[in-house]
Amino acid sequence: MTCKQLGGACDKEFHAASFEEIAEQSKMHGMEMFQRGDQAHINAMNEMGELMKTPNAMKDWVENKRKEFNSLPEDK
Ligand SMILES: [Zn+2]
Repeated sequence: MTCKQLGGACDKEFHAASFEEIAEQSKMHGMEMFQRGDQAHINAMNEMGELMKTPNAMKDWVENKRKEFNSLPEDK
């Protein structure tokens, strides 16, 4: 899945065997870009922050992404 698909802002691809792993990779990448001051990623993180204020919205988002991840073919 790409950074964008995981709520980020670029087309960087992540590959992992499990959703937890890919979520972790995208989080690390997001934080790295945030520290570099990448505006697109900062905006994306702010949007995720808004989502996190509503626990159910966040949960739905994660579940949708998990389904998306699980529905992908072998090369995730
Ligand atoms: Zn990115």
